[in-house]
Amino acid sequence: MSRIWNFSAGPAALPEVVLQQAKEELLDWHGIGAGIMEVSHRGKHFTEVIKEAEADVRELLVIPAHYRVLFLQGGATLQFAAIPLNLLAADASADYLITGAWSKKAFADAGKLPLAGKLCLAANMEDKNAPASGFTRLPEPEAIALNEKAAYLHLCGNETIHGVAIHDDAWLDGALPSVVPVIADMSSSILSRPLDVARYGLIYAGAQKNIGPSGLTLVIIREDLCARAANNVPAPISYKMQAENDSMLNTPATFAVYLAGLVFRWLKEQGGLTGMAAINRVKAMKLYAAIDASQGFYRNHVAISCRSNMNVPFNLLTPELEAEFVREAEAAGFMGLEGHKSVGGIRASIYNAMPVQGVEALLLFMADFMRRRG
Ligand SMILES: *Cc1c(COP(=O)(O)O)cnc(C)c1O
Repeated sequence: MSRIWNFSAGPAALPEVVLQQAKEELLDWHGIGAGIMEVSHRGKHFTEVIKEAEADVRELLVIPAHYRVLFLQGGATLQFAAIPLNLLAADASADYLITGAWSKKAFADAGKLPLAGKLCLAANMEDKNAPASGFTRLPEPEAIALNEKAAYLHLCGNETIHGVAIHDDAWLDGALPSVVPVIADMSSSILSRPLDVARYGLIYAGAQKNIGPSGLTLVIIREDLCARAANNVPAPISYKMQAENDSMLNTPATFAVYLAGLVFRWLKEQGGLTGMAAINRVKAMKLYAAIDASQGFYRNHVAISCRSNMNVPFNLLTPELEAEFVREAEAAGFMGLEGHKSVGGIRASIYNAMPVQGVEALLLFMADFMRRRG
């Protein structure tokens, strides 16, 4: 068996030691004579697993006691609908910030629903004339049209496709009325750095980037929002009912919860999120430095202050050269480097499970490719 350097955007690489442990426990978890995915979600074994997973993720993110942690299904995408259905009352409005493909999709999906409340565009950073990608920066906080009575402001913490990220949770302070809860899609940045959870009303993340296998969605919701959630929402997406039932309203994605729990434990062993953030910054800095030093052979178009530490998209001079880069990279043992089909180019996703050595190996390949093709 040989594992290769996996730069996939999601589902993405998982820590090898976690996969080893899951392999060892697959047929017989903790000597019970069955795998953890083969036992009742209401039995004592799985209850132990999900309780420990919650305790560990609470510890890692320092989640305050007045927040609920939910392990749901349907991916981040289902949350695009669940959020307004739960939290947008008939006479209310909600603000949306569009900074890339995912926040754009969240706004579009909400717009398809027969909502009684109103959806407002607080800012749209799409620039059809921008090179390659169309989204290259965050708005200035003062330039955002915020409604002080909004039920919530929705934003995306890390735009996985365009590589535009919010690095500072206090970014909107001053511009945002303190009573408006911020709802953040953190699918591709959760657990990559310490997070000031108290600044958010709701944080959600599909698991397959930085948590574990697909099929699991983490939702962290402030208790008052959970209590305020509408009653006429289908049970699986009702925050109130899921919280009342400890995410066991119906069968949760048990194996995914178990694996996420192993990842949480692994993160604690890496020094928690402060340690992880330091490693992530090193990886991203090395990659951007090489791109910026290539005299235009490799180009990243995102404003420096909002460059993502998780997803590094870049372009070469022509689509043909980019295709050749991906082909040769694959032959040299690198997986998942093609950009999202909507924007093309190259994208290196460097989540927690990608070690510094993987990035260094990619840099050697990039230097060699440039020497031959530059
Ligand atoms: C991957 C991703 C999604 C979609 O997640 P699914 O779990 O596939 O629904 C949404 N938002 C962001 C920021 C993502 O990276």
